[in-house]
Amino acid sequence: MILIGGVKPYRTVLAAMTLVCGRCGNPAGHRLIEHERKLTVFFIPTVKVSTTYEVECVYCGAQSPMSKAEAQTLQERANAAASPGTVLGTVHPPRQQAPEA
Ligand SMILES: [Zn+2]
Repeated sequence: MILIGGVKPYRTVLAAMTLVCGRCGNPAGHRLIEHERKLTVFFIPTVKVSTTYEVECVYCGAQSPMSKAEAQTLQERANAAASPGTVLGTVHPPRQQAPEA
């Protein structure tokens, strides 16, 4: 019997909101993104292996990881905002990545 399996990433946009970016400093649109990795058997997703959250600036592309609790709070604030253009807060600067050689 041959078993074909693997891990497949899934990316879901949970909310969109206006935040002041921690890198470029612009009050720009941000996406709250959920990254899931699921175990697949015969290319069918079965079990969730891991879930991470991040906020991505659509202006400069900066990505800031956050905890599940922070993501839930931000999603609630985005859903409760009066209008789509309301600035909800400031994103912490993303972690510095080592330059690629
Ligand atoms: Zn930015």
